[in-house]
Amino acid sequence: MREERIADCKGDGGVEYEAIVVGAGLAGLVAAAEIADAGKTVLLLDQEPEASIGGQAWWSFGGLFLVDSPEQKRMGIKDSKELAWQDWLGAAGFDREQDEDYWGKKWAEAYVDFAAGEKRAWLASMGIRFFPVVGWAERGGYLAEGHGNSVSRFHIVWGTGPGIVAPFERRVRAHMKAD
Ligand SMILES: Cc1cc2nc3c(=O)[nH]c(=O)nc-3n(C[C@H](O)[C@H](O)[C@H](O)COP(=O)(O)OP(=O)(O)OC[C@H]3O[C@@H](n4cnc5c(N)ncnc54)[C@H](O)[C@@H]3O)c2cc1C
Repeated sequence: MREERIADCKGDGGVEYEAIVVGAGLAGLVAAAEIADAGKTVLLLDQEPEASIGGQAWWSFGGLFLVDSPEQKRMGIKDSKELAWQDWLGAAGFDREQDEDYWGKKWAEAYVDFAAGEKRAWLASMGIRFFPVVGWAERGGYLAEGHGNSVSRFHIVWGTGPGIVAPFERRVRAHMKAD
């Protein structure tokens, strides 16, 4: 049923799309870029004019969550996937794992894996670089048993918010030119 509905989706000019992404903030740009790179047709919609592309991320500080990065090591920060997961659990307080927390916990696990694994290299492959001083956002209670990041993990992208939006916007625009 779902596949049929997606296949039936039509844009203004009667063109059919395999996917429609609503919102050209960072999440929408990433999704649209990945879908288009996979060879699918995608319609990216936003209620705002084109000048607002990137949404909140354009205005943001561009601080990204990375775990056990070279920047942290250079500053002598001892981090690991296990510690990040412990911190995440302390903040999330998942207590309905068979119910509404089920997918939230799965998503969190995948995200911590990503942040401790391929995330930095994936961003670097698009030209994203980081300020060498790692910040400490969402510190919580400062301790590994409590909520929040027990070590610094806030990696600021060179160029801040516009610096994180630009590569994804470029990828999306390249498909607009090509198609
Ligand atoms: C000043 C500031 C600083 C920040 N700094 C950081 C930081 O350093 N690190 C960090 O991790 N996070 C930071 N954040 C938060 C981060 O920027 C956001 O969480 C993130 O950018 C959200 O991205 P998004 O694509 O999910 O949503 P959004 O950026 O909100 O994008 C959603 C898009 O959907 C569109 N839309 C909504 N409803 C509809 C609709 N019905 N139809 C069509 N379009 C619609 C909107 O117009 C918008 O363009 C900051 C935020 C702000 C405002």
